[in-house]
Amino acid sequence: MQRQPLEPLLERLEHAHLRRRRCTIDSLAVPGSRAELNIAGRRLVDFSSNDYLGLAAHPELAAAMAESAVRVGAGSGAAHLISGHGREHAALEEELAAFTGRERALLFSTGYMANLAVLCTLADRGETVLLDRLSHASLIDGVLLSGARLRRFPHADAVAAEHLLGRATMRTAVVATDGVFSMDGDRAPLRALARIARAHNAWLVVDDAHGLGVLGSTGRGILQLDDLSAEDVPVLVGTLGKAFGSFGAFVAGSAALIELLVQKARPYIYTTALPQPVAAATRAALRIAQREPWRRTRALALAAQFRAAAHDAGVAVADSNTPIQPVLVGSARAALEIQQALAQAGFWVVAIRSPTVPVGQERLRITLTAAHREDQVQALVDVLARAWHQIRPETAA
Ligand SMILES: *Cc1c(COP(=O)(O)O)cnc(C)c1O
Repeated sequence: MQRQPLEPLLERLEHAHLRRRRCTIDSLAVPGSRAELNIAGRRLVDFSSNDYLGLAAHPELAAAMAESAVRVGAGSGAAHLISGHGREHAALEEELAAFTGRERALLFSTGYMANLAVLCTLADRGETVLLDRLSHASLIDGVLLSGARLRRFPHADAVAAEHLLGRATMRTAVVATDGVFSMDGDRAPLRALARIARAHNAWLVVDDAHGLGVLGSTGRGILQLDDLSAEDVPVLVGTLGKAFGSFGAFVAGSAALIELLVQKARPYIYTTALPQPVAAATRAALRIAQREPWRRTRALALAAQFRAAAHDAGVAVADSNTPIQPVLVGSARAALEIQQALAQAGFWVVAIRSPTVPVGQERLRITLTAAHREDQVQALVDVLARAWHQIRPETAA
């Protein structure tokens, strides 16, 4: 793009109903919970966050953060390989390794960077990486950064993945997928992908950003739910800003994998270490998540309540057994109209549009968390159903 006036580009987005807007949160409406937010002088129930366990505003996390900040300072001062690596980081890495049942875990500043790091380290120019078509943008960007060839298989279609693998002219280094898909809430066919990746000697990378802390009998995520071992899935990526209510991410795997990432991964080496107080807050979150399994079961139960009530009210809900409950609307305009109707009634839900989802797949992404109440879920469905039937989405099912 040459230097030119940029306003027309923005106007084009506006015209196509694709302009995105940030909303500024003034404060929490209820201390200790971010399920209700004060925004522009109004109180809104937030059904759009990834705070599945209701931990982001938990006083224990805030206290851990404050205590650590007083002790070691707010900033880490340098990258991990210089002088930015502290006790909180080391302790959190050990706890994450134990939690995931892996030899080691490596902390990253964000999940985006963790995925870039994994793909740049495991895939090379002249090799292929296979991704589910609906994989998170950071997996796609990781492949682009690695210089490997990107091939995408149809969503959750392990048979198609196997077919692509069999025909690949260049060696397939990595098969990667989200565990739980961020905009759909459905799950990857991991057992089949594990078998295929192993048969072709490719690394299987699972990004369980939305399953970790929520799925499985003790919250260890989709691998626990599907009973998959470290042999089946040698590379596990998890994020800490979602169910764990904090910030950051990690890669868990063998000691050798983690050591290679430390040596080679540019998104690990050339960036300032995550502040230690953030790691301290995450450690508190891990403790609470394990001590209070009701948070996990509650988020899932509220999701089931939402799905059943929406279905009864004639709203087309997608088939998802996770706290992510998408309502497919089919156009950016209708999605925005329903978002506005919900906001007017006191519910914050965001219209998800292209390019986050394909054109025609526009939706409202509704998320349930342990901090919501049953009556709030029912009230949401009442307003949603009214708006849905008024706006009559083109794709009404
Ligand atoms: C949110 C998300 C990420 C990015 O994690 P951040 O820590 O927010 O950068 C990566 N992968 C998936 C599937 C996600 O949903």
